[in-house]
Amino acid sequence: MITIETVLKNLRFQLTPDREKLIRKAFEFAEKAHKGQKRKSGEEYIQHSLHTALNLARIGMRSRTITAGLLHDVPEDTQITLKEVEKEFGKEIAFIVDGVTKLGKIKLRGTKEDLYIENLRKMFLAMAQDIRVVIIKLADRLHNMETLEALPDDKRERIARETMEVFAPIANRLGIGDMKIKLEDLSFKFLDPNGYQEVKEITEKAYSHRKKIMDQVMHTLKENLTKENIEVINVYGRTKSLYRLYQKLKAHEMDTAKVYDLIGIRIVVPNIADCYETLGLVHKYYRPLIGRIKDYISLPKPNGYQSIHTTIFGPKEKFFLEIQIRTQKMDNEAEFGIAAHWIYSEGKKKSWRDLIGFTKVNNAIIEKPDEDVLWVQQLREWQKELNKDGDAFLEGLKIEFFKNHILAFSPKGDIIDLPEDATPIDFAYKVHSEVGNRAVGARADQKMVPLDYKIRNGEIIEIITSKEHKNPNREWLRFVRTSNARSRIKSTLIKEGLL
Ligand code: MN
Repeated sequence: MITIETVLKNLRFQLTPDREKLIRKAFEFAEKAHKGQKRKSGEEYIQHSLHTALNLARIGMRSRTITAGLLHDVPEDTQITLKEVEKEFGKEIAFIVDGVTKLGKIKLRGTKEDLYIENLRKMFLAMAQDIRVVIIKLADRLHNMETLEALPDDKRERIARETMEVFAPIANRLGIGDMKIKLEDLSFKFLDPNGYQEVKEITEKAYSHRKKIMDQVMHTLKENLTKENIEVINVYGRTKSLYRLYQKLKAHEMDTAKVYDLIGIRIVVPNIADCYETLGLVHKYYRPLIGRIKDYISLPKPNGYQSIHTTIFGPKEKFFLEIQIRTQKMDNEAEFGIAAHWIYSEGKKKSWRDLIGFTKVNNAIIEKPDEDVLWVQQLREWQKELNKDGDAFLEGLKIEFFKNHILAFSPKGDIIDLPEDATPIDFAYKVHSEVGNRAVGARADQKMVPLDYKIRNGEIIEIITSKEHKNPNREWLRFVRTSNARSRIKSTLIKEGLL
């Protein structure tokens, strides 16, 4: 059982009297509205509202989102109407609560394919209108997953699957690693209890075997970093998430020796220069594994993730350890993703909309985001495509949103965000449809590659075009991965009477 005090204690922003008043008022309002209602688990309903708010507080959401989180089930499940919520808390909060209610009505599984598309479409619209709606939905889903035990088998299965297939990927795309891991591991536990148990035992055993060595490495690094005048803000051991580990183990005959990042150490230092100095120092004391140094600081992941990763041979070279080096800001962003932008927006006179680049429903002006998050740009592009045909939309969504992404560069250094396995043709159409239509060849990192080549993360892609060549090749439709390329190829071919 938690109370509103638990929520207030976990806030990551300065609690002014105004904000505290607002949050407490929402709590009292929700408590009264839900009075007498019980959850399937037997708990008072208000516990669910409080846990949702707590999940939001933990990832750094601000007072209005916490308020809306407390109120999120009021219009749906009680006698109190949305109008009354609006009267008490104003338009903005009522708008968010309404969004959460509507989103809750979307059942993503167990419907016919057409409905599924329609529902995903609605979901993305909701997301684009106010991203806080989706973040509350994630916080709500997380508590529902934590209390899933109380539901009957068939319902459990449906909810766990939906969480794994839809909500965890959304958390991932929002960069909220903390929630992504929790949602995935909880779904995994219900969808595959045996696998879950197996991998849990493996991790615990591995961790306890290596704990001593890990402590020793952490001690050595900390001592020497301090000697070199690099401040160590934090250093701690971490295990891999159970679901991700299971995936990896399955790909390696369940052999833990083949998983290099089973356990690792995270080092948090003040600034980027310190990160690189720390990397040098780590390699001075421990031998790095060739090809395992990943610099996500100069080349962030598309969801914004930044860190330096290196795998080292531990003392006596008995096993590997992954070391992750990052700044405090990167550490927060890795855990809280898009939500971390709220933490850093404090003090600036910017609203969340300025930061994210979205405006409210009836306001057509779209502002340029301050801190650009690539997937938000992508989302905006999808919105433009929303009214076009449903199949293409769903196909695009499945590939582009739920699959891994890679980043490629143009020779001028522009970053192009692509789904995994994207080809130079996808790249070309992303740059400009004329570049796509006139493409005759491609180079990846200065080497000639075929047009159906699978681009790898970080490659510089150069498209060779020809003035004589005006139309796309219909064969390209066989291998392109993005809906953008597909629809442009088709429309050009149709226009030219070639399809
Ligand atoms: Mn709820």
